[in-house]
Amino acid sequence: MSATHRLTAPTPGWTATTDVVVVGSGVAGLTVALNVRKAGLRAMVVTKAMLDEGSTRWAQGGIAAALGEGDTPEQHLDDTLVAGAGVCDEEAVRTLVTEGPDAVRRLIATGALFDRGEDGEILLTREGGHHRRRIAHAGGDATGAEISRALVSAVRTDPDIELIEHALVLDLLTDAAGHAAGLTLHVMGEGQRDGVGAVRARAVVLATGGMGQVFSATTNPAVSTGDGVALALRAGAAVTDLEFVQFHPTVLWLGPDAEGQQPLVSEAVRGEGAHLVDADGVRFMLGQHELAELAPRDIVAKAITRRMQEQGAEHMFLDGRHFGAEMWEHRFPTILASCRAHGIDPVTAPIPVAPAAHYASGGIRTDARGRTSVPGLYACGEVACTGVHGANRLASNSLLEGLVFAERIAADLAGRHAAGDLPERTVDVAAARAALPVPLPPSEARAEVQRLMSRGAGVLRSAASMADAAAGLALLAEQARHHVAEEKPADPRVETWEAANLLLVATALVAAAAQREETRGCHWREDFPERDDAHWRRHLITTLAASGDPVSTPEEQ
Ligand SMILES: Cc1cc2nc3c(=O)[nH]c(=O)nc-3n(C[C@H](O)[C@H](O)[C@H](O)COP(=O)(O)OP(=O)(O)OC[C@H]3O[C@@H](n4cnc5c(N)ncnc54)[C@H](O)[C@@H]3O)c2cc1C
Repeated sequence: MSATHRLTAPTPGWTATTDVVVVGSGVAGLTVALNVRKAGLRAMVVTKAMLDEGSTRWAQGGIAAALGEGDTPEQHLDDTLVAGAGVCDEEAVRTLVTEGPDAVRRLIATGALFDRGEDGEILLTREGGHHRRRIAHAGGDATGAEISRALVSAVRTDPDIELIEHALVLDLLTDAAGHAAGLTLHVMGEGQRDGVGAVRARAVVLATGGMGQVFSATTNPAVSTGDGVALALRAGAAVTDLEFVQFHPTVLWLGPDAEGQQPLVSEAVRGEGAHLVDADGVRFMLGQHELAELAPRDIVAKAITRRMQEQGAEHMFLDGRHFGAEMWEHRFPTILASCRAHGIDPVTAPIPVAPAAHYASGGIRTDARGRTSVPGLYACGEVACTGVHGANRLASNSLLEGLVFAERIAADLAGRHAAGDLPERTVDVAAARAALPVPLPPSEARAEVQRLMSRGAGVLRSAASMADAAAGLALLAEQARHHVAEEKPADPRVETWEAANLLLVATALVAAAAQREETRGCHWREDFPERDDAHWRRHLITTLAASGDPVSTPEEQ
């Protein structure tokens, strides 16, 4: 199937060719690139900003794997299924937890340095929803930065991995048979490749990370605008579970008007014994869940939100004063520094915290080999929905998912290459031209999308709140169409392309969230407070209709 829609953009002015083009340079994208190279395929990594600017380098807590004495993949599986609230794909979870420990060992062999005890063993901590210490960490609370450093250094030393930074990927290109054959992109900057171009490839891998920027307050960096999901929808691929957005319970509260990326206070701080308290110092998680502050994230985020509502408060507090200065400095240097930079000293004062958008459990639907519903288009990492997270991701399973399924994609591509099933592709130029150009909203639409989404589709959702959000989003799309009809279209440029992607992803997310009339995992409906297994123990599959509107259909039970 060829793309029915594309972003409005100039005709490509240059063309490059590779074997496998990978979009995104976080843990998922770089792992694919390194592994397809081992199979003798050329790889090109295209990334929107610098190589290390995705969510990966921000990860604090660590990476979960059954590495500790007495721990087993089976126990990791159980904890993951509980957090996923009945809609995990158990086979995908089994793959994650059984292949996870060796994937982490291979990451270490690539050069990532994890924290170790005096005996040389990897130190493991606990996070919410885990019944065991199984989170490996690096640099105390700088795990993602270390993983990113190691992977970036490995790709930089491989001359057969071509790296294109500051390049925004726009849309998929296919051949006459509908197989992925490359993509269009816009390179920002000067040099041989500048402006809109095309990359021809035998296969395309999307590893574009999350979509936290559809909300006003998020832990995600500015690049997390859901581009991969939007591209996949336009390309005719199925996406799923978009309604399951995880709101991290403890994000540093920076005031009522704070927008964009906000500093995270990792769950590992609670794992090491910090308490959640209200302004009176009451530990309100006690009695709410057997794991108290270490209950799964959705439970903690809901409890904080409820307490904030009951007390008319804008935030709660995380109290880790009893750690003392030395522990803060050695175990949580990043969090300590970011709190102090905002005028809060966790050694002497409780930290003001509130929930913010953190992780997209849903994404582009893939099978166990990372294949999407479009032949030759693969997806892995946060942009994908392999089925491992269900309705709620278990803490520190995402870096692991990025690693494990990236390796699986590389293995699939290697197998296809060896079997002669990965030939060069010829782009179907007529089909690319026939795709309808999406009217671009002005760049200011980004902030409006974020406001609408935080108000209508945040931690608390109802039919009424989502109808408001949907109406606001529809108006933005209508205004963009109107400007085109009036011959005053927004300029095609990075800001307007990102705004178009945010608008599409937000519209799809609200459509799915409005349809799911139950509360499950991190999807919390005030008007449907119960989990409804009879009707909703299944996925909603979203695709783009010919009109360009996303349509969600419940999967057969
Ligand atoms: C603050 C924070 C803390 C976290 N802590 C943990 C943790 O402790 N443990 C854990 O397991 N997970 C954690 N997570 C989640 C985890 O970091 C992410 O899910 C994971 O790193 C995603 O990796 P990725 O490779 O899929 O995407 P990313 O690392 O986000 O990389 C995406 C890449 O795609 C690029 N890109 C996006 N759109 C385009 C486009 N149109 N064209 C070209 N390039 C594009 C970006 O520039 C970037 O390079 C945390 C996340 C955050 C934000």
